[in-house]
Amino acid sequence: MTAKIIDGKAIAKEIRAELAKQVAELTAQGRTPGLTVVLVGDNPASKVYVRSKQRACEEIGINSTVHRLPEETTQAELLALIDQLNADDTVHGILVQLPLPGHLNEEEVINAISPAKDVDGFHPINVGKLQIGTASFVPCTPAGVVELVKRTGVSIAGQHVVVLGRSNIVGKPAAALFLKENATVTICHSRTKNAAEECSRADILIVAVGRPKLVKKDWVKPGAVVIDVGINRVDGEIVGDVDFAEVQEVASAITPVPGGVGPMTIAMLLKATVEAAARG
Ligand code: NAD
Repeated sequence: MTAKIIDGKAIAKEIRAELAKQVAELTAQGRTPGLTVVLVGDNPASKVYVRSKQRACEEIGINSTVHRLPEETTQAELLALIDQLNADDTVHGILVQLPLPGHLNEEEVINAISPAKDVDGFHPINVGKLQIGTASFVPCTPAGVVELVKRTGVSIAGQHVVVLGRSNIVGKPAAALFLKENATVTICHSRTKNAAEECSRADILIVAVGRPKLVKKDWVKPGAVVIDVGINRVDGEIVGDVDFAEVQEVASAITPVPGGVGPMTIAMLLKATVEAAARG
């Protein structure tokens, strides 16, 4: 069997086109969605991410503002800016680009963002709401994973989903989202006794560990759907956490890296901003 390749780029493009229509409708009602990104310091990767988020907003008509603050910004200055953005009716989504410089307290900053504008879904209120199934904002990458699986036509209810990785931004929220979709969910992590064996029982395998090509052919049940969240730079090349060449021989469908989950993350951020504006 050779797996179907799940084209995240094409699916993200489809979502952006749908969102552009909604943005036009909201704009006609005088409610243009607005996303404000706060970037502190000079982290080169963060600068690239922020630029691509800004470009993606502009392409579909979302108002995008970026506050670029110097590395030496104090906690009090950053919190004052967040207060101001919380109170600004033209700002529907606030995103503080992580990681913050070491002298700043990330947790306090996330907690200061109004849960109603927390498009990243990192505020503890939104994390809790995700667990009880009432979340309005969920972390963008796992939201993109679920959307990708759904739009590929794979039914989730009743399936065994194994999530490899338990980070707060990918693994744990991915598990909660699949549970909400009525999957049977297993979470594996670095202390799991036999991760390969657990993974080989998955109908849908979600991999988010940050270990290049960790998942091999014998970790995957024939016919499984494999979603690779990993982004690793190896010898100047970007590779996932799944050994794509091997695993595509056994899976029924698989995401490539790049071009799988990556493009979905920004599409989900745009979606969250549009939904926030629509809620008013
Ligand atoms: P993280 O480092 O916060 O968490 C990694 C998780 O993997 C941990 O829970 C750890 O227990 C588990 N783990 C590590 N080694 C393991 C092993 N050998 N076996 C089993 N489990 C193991 O990482 P993260 O933030 O969740 O990111 C994971 C990967 O996804 C990274 O490559 C990251 O770059 C990528 N990522 C991609 C996107 C995207 O937009 N596509 C977004 C976020 C993260």
